[in-house]
Amino acid sequence: MDFRGVSLIAGREAAPAGAQFRAINPATGAAIDPPFFSAGEDDVDRAVRAAHEAFLIWRRRSAPDRARLLRAIADGLDAALPQLVARAQQETALPEARLQGETKRTSGQCRMFADVIEEGSWVGARIDTALPERKPLPRPDIRSMLQPLGPIAVFGASNFPLAYSVAGGDTASALAAGNSVVVKAHPAHPGTGELVARIIVDAVRSTGAPEGVFSLLYDHGFAVGQALVRHPLVQAVGFTGSRNGGRALMDLAAQRPDPIPCFAEMGSTNPVFILPGALRRNGIQIASGLFASFTLGAGQFCTKPGMVFVPVQQETAPLLAELRRLTGESPAFNLLTPGIAASYTRSLQSRREEPDLSMQQAKSSPGACTVAAALFETGIEAFLGHPEWSHEVFGPTSLVIGYQQREAMMRAAEELEGHLTASVWGTDADLAEYADLIAILERKAGRLIFNGFPTGLEVSDGIVHGGPYPACSDSRFTAVGSRAIVRFARPVCYQGFPEASLPGELRNANPPGILRMINGNTTRDPLSA
Ligand code: NAP
Repeated sequence: MDFRGVSLIAGREAAPAGAQFRAINPATGAAIDPPFFSAGEDDVDRAVRAAHEAFLIWRRRSAPDRARLLRAIADGLDAALPQLVARAQQETALPEARLQGETKRTSGQCRMFADVIEEGSWVGARIDTALPERKPLPRPDIRSMLQPLGPIAVFGASNFPLAYSVAGGDTASALAAGNSVVVKAHPAHPGTGELVARIIVDAVRSTGAPEGVFSLLYDHGFAVGQALVRHPLVQAVGFTGSRNGGRALMDLAAQRPDPIPCFAEMGSTNPVFILPGALRRNGIQIASGLFASFTLGAGQFCTKPGMVFVPVQQETAPLLAELRRLTGESPAFNLLTPGIAASYTRSLQSRREEPDLSMQQAKSSPGACTVAAALFETGIEAFLGHPEWSHEVFGPTSLVIGYQQREAMMRAAEELEGHLTASVWGTDADLAEYADLIAILERKAGRLIFNGFPTGLEVSDGIVHGGPYPACSDSRFTAVGSRAIVRFARPVCYQGFPEASLPGELRNANPPGILRMINGNTTRDPLSA
């Protein structure tokens, strides 16, 4: 395909307006053609106005209509799999198999949200029928359900060029709920972004959706993204990326004259707690699993285990020896961008200078994006004095913290900030003995994992991918799984409305056949008038 390198606004190509940039191939350091052009401020305004106009139509389209668009996007992604993988590989240096899996995950997410809205119960319909005879006051008829918000600004991350990008979970869930979407393309994979945007534009046309329901804006910098978040017609933000980026957009969204929700999914260090019984039983297997997990995808997963608490006992030395061996013998890793590689190298350098941290690192010849894995070790008392050691270092590294005293480990757990996940390795006896640790972790993370590692996230109904700040801007929601759709909707209540003026979901006959709460009871039955 010929890349055009320009923003796509309501299905049309924008004129090249701002600065030019090219993607970089992380494997070679070479710039990839063609150049892409940043959008101008006018483009932001046009895209959001088109999104607003389209929203007024799209929010009224039936669930099967909206599902048709999502399935057409999914089919388009599947059909373009070879081109998507080839371009994404050039732009990210991620392995082919990983990108194939990610493309299928992305189309799968679109189909999952199509199923969710066709089934329809996600709107959480509630009906309290009128009680005209109630004393001292009669009760009116009160009905409510979730309704979409409006134009949503979406920002994807560099490390998932498909699943958290142009047609990723934020876009799919926002469109499914009845919103329109304006994506700020990630400059690390602009060609992949254009391919996916064209698939969405084709799907919009072929299914008769309003054209402004989707736009894509390019920028190599912050101006376009910030103008998007500030635009008065934008009603919410979906962000996946770094803590700095997420926090900047959260603050911008909150500082607007009319603050809007910003659902930011940010970095996380994902603590792992190895308990004494598990270490005795299978310390060596834990070591190899841990190494595989913290180096998976070159350590560029928001679920990477970056902090591991290990009791100091007889079996600790073999576990550490195995981890050091695996790290020391590991091959070089390509990171996604020169910026991420430079930031990884800086973080390692500053940790290397810490007298209380010891380091094992593989040998490698550094390139623009090539780095070596690194394992750091320390004791719990030093760790407790350095809160910054618990921050995310994006790349193939982890920190092992040895503890002698259960109390010190519990204190460290209590002092954790919010994380996406927390993992516990233990026996049944460990679990019983450390029930208080689990109670702490329930307050610290969105997903607790027993005898497993946090990488490899299932997209499903039960999954939670979120957590208290700074993992996420709002711990009440998940960014992954079918429940993610509720982020882009709000409850609207209809009091005393005649039956014929109510949305189908709230009518007595229950035309979509969804689960509803009627006078406190959950049922799919129609309501007899
Ligand atoms: P990033 O640098 O924060 O970039 C994400 C997007 O936000 C880019 O489009 C970027 O634009 C934009 N952005 C960043 N700062 C901004 C600001 N101040 N104002 C306006 N726009 C801004 O993140 P990344 O390096 O691509 O991704 C890696 C990070 O994502 C890691 O920390 C990883 O843990 C996290 N992540 C989290 C999840 C999750 O679900 N929690 C999933 C995947 C990744 P420019 O690039 O043009 O500057």
